[in-house]
Amino acid sequence: MTDSNLLKNPESLFTLGYGLYIVTSRKDDRLNGQISNAIMQVTDTPPRLAAAVNKDALTHEFITHSGVFTVNVLSESAPINLIRLFGFQSGTDKDKFSQVPFEIGLTGCPIVTDHVVACMEARVETTLDCGTHTVFIGQVEAARIIGAGKPMTYAYYREVLQGKTPPTAPTYRASAAVTSSKKIKETSEMGKYVCDVCGYIYDPAVGDPENGVEPGTTFEDLPNDWVCPECGVGKDEFSPVE
Ligand code: FE
Repeated sequence: MTDSNLLKNPESLFTLGYGLYIVTSRKDDRLNGQISNAIMQVTDTPPRLAAAVNKDALTHEFITHSGVFTVNVLSESAPINLIRLFGFQSGTDKDKFSQVPFEIGLTGCPIVTDHVVACMEARVETTLDCGTHTVFIGQVEAARIIGAGKPMTYAYYREVLQGKTPPTAPTYRASAAVTSSKKIKETSEMGKYVCDVCGYIYDPAVGDPENGVEPGTTFEDLPNDWVCPECGVGKDEFSPVE
């Protein structure tokens, strides 16, 4: 007898391979970009790319408005903070391009010039409604090598940089969140706070010594500019562990 659970084993999906990219766009004078692993080339003549973007993302609004997007291929040299800036923070609250060097490409989208090996500038031809995400299919109007280095794979990000996946990503592992909430219950103690974005737990007994917070510092006593060491969000994104 066939076990239907085995046929639907989500672990099988995690064997798919991906790269890691910053997808950028613009809306009038505003620029934005976000991390994506869901990019693929779909045709060669002419070259077309498909990019899956969450409908709640500001970048989705910008691509829908301008009809252009640029794929920046991250290098393995990309620091985790660059990935956190573009992967875990919203352009609604922050001008991400005030913090990184960039230039404006032929279509008007920003091209990140550090820790990027190549960029492809695309103009949207077709969109596909996929529920939570839209797949934008765009024809490449310009493409060039930006810098030396090896392109970062999603596996490298997860395994070498110990990177996390935000809930808005197509490959977000809900099962990992379940495991983490189970873990929270098992280790529940007064004074701990959990990051609602990535699941990091602030434990006052441990503090955050790498960022200058001594053990014994309560969550309330953390400086107001302290940010989650895993994903970079502020204190207002944390909830008490119960
Ligand atoms: Fe976090």
